Amino acid sequence: MSDLANTTLRDAPSADSIFLHDVRQFLSKALTLDLRDAGRITIGVHSDIAACRVWHRRLYERGWIAPAWPAAYGGTNWTPAQRLIFERECAANDAPVLFAGGLRTLGPLLIAIGSPLQQHRYLPAILDGSDLWCQGFSEPGAGSDLAALQTRACAMDDHYVVNGSKIWTTGAHIANRMFCLVRTAQSGKQQHGITFLLIDMATAGISVKPIRTLAGDHEFNEVFLDQVRVPFADRVGNENEGWAVAKLLMQFARANNTTSGLLRRAFRRTAGILDSHTGADSGVFRCRLSELECELRTFEALELRLLTQRQMNGLTDAQASMIKVLATELHQKVASLSLEAAGMAALTSSTGAAVQSPWLKEGRFAAAKYFATRAASIYSGTNETHRNLIARHLLATAASV
Ligand SMILES: Cc1cc2nc3c(=O)[nH]c(=O)nc-3n(C[C@H](O)[C@H](O)[C@H](O)COP(=O)(O)OP(=O)(O)OC[C@H]3O[C@@H](n4cnc5c(N)ncnc54)[C@H](O)[C@@H]3O)c2cc1C
Repeated sequence: MSDLANTTLRDAPSADSIFLHDVRQFLSKALTLDLRDAGRITIGVHSDIAACRVWHRRLYERGWIAPAWPAAYGGTNWTPAQRLIFERECAANDAPVLFAGGLRTLGPLLIAIGSPLQQHRYLPAILDGSDLWCQGFSEPGAGSDLAALQTRACAMDDHYVVNGSKIWTTGAHIANRMFCLVRTAQSGKQQHGITFLLIDMATAGISVKPIRTLAGDHEFNEVFLDQVRVPFADRVGNENEGWAVAKLLMQFARANNTTSGLLRRAFRRTAGILDSHTGADSGVFRCRLSELECELRTFEALELRLLTQRQMNGLTDAQASMIKVLATELHQKVASLSLEAAGMAALTSSTGAAVQSPWLKEGRFAAAKYFATRAASIYSGTNETHRNLIARHLLATAASV
């Protein structure tokens, strides 16, 4: 395996070398200064939405918006190494981080099990960016124990009537559509009686209330559904069998999330802070950064290996969980190092001229990023629940030998 982190035009294998050249040429033109600025100041899970839309459009026009999709549906046909090269170059050039729920999760799900009508209606709009999708799974009483969800859907003529509420819905204030889990039956096992629906956010009866994060951003929301009508045609899979649909979607979510690019981006920013650091602790911080670099390189190698395996025969749930836990905890370690190195600058509440100081700006960024990355071990399933899954897998494997 080539050392992806150090691939250059000189030493890359020729197909990757040509690809890298194409990517760099494209980025040098398409990634304008305003887009790079938006990418650089990204705190949460996506960049400023106006910049996301422009960047989405440029990737779409180049045919590079959906690396995880089959080529027949608009995918890129890239090798795993090419996918990671692309991610790494985007990160190195501060490309905006896309609001990509439709691209990473719902699109692949509809390709796998959506009806022809759903594929025809929704896939082109995910690709060209005209539809943005949010995920309505969690409820106040249903997070890790998702099957406890209580939002009800009653069948009536040719549609469902939905009542209830969702919480922590990332981007519900931006998205025009939501994929959602609802309860259609109360009897039997909790997992039975759940149904997977596609909902237009403009439907009468939907209201969205913001929740502010610890970092001060508005990224997620509560969503209230009051007598919301959803056509039967917008149900994915069978009624009462939405649990299996949601599990498949989460597999896509975990498997299609290439994170080493994002980690490299955070790492580069931290290295920049250490470059400006002149305090007595500089040597210690540098030593910790080197240790993190080793972890990052190991992670990159692992991600490349698993991407290759996924392309051949898919990932196990335990492998996807392992990647999630490793990536999010590494991200948190990098963010912690930035925060510690920034020291008092991270605590500044200065306004006016003082805040223009590059060091203070970096400090404020490091603090906001630190708080934002705390959430990474909670969303997409908490790391504790992923560890349970990995342990169950290991115990089952041990029992079978
Ligand atoms: C930034 C962010 C964005 C999010 N975006 C979305 C979104 O777009 N759509 C959506 O539907 N949801 C979203 N979520 C919600 C997320 O999926 C839930 O927060 C998560 O599933 C945990 O649920 P909970 O918050 O109810 O915590 P709980 O499930 O109540 O867990 C509380 C604590 O108990 C631990 N715990 C629970 N059960 C076990 C167990 N069996 N074994 C060991 N430990 C356990 C958990 O790990 C956690 O530490 C988001 C969350 C965050 C933080």
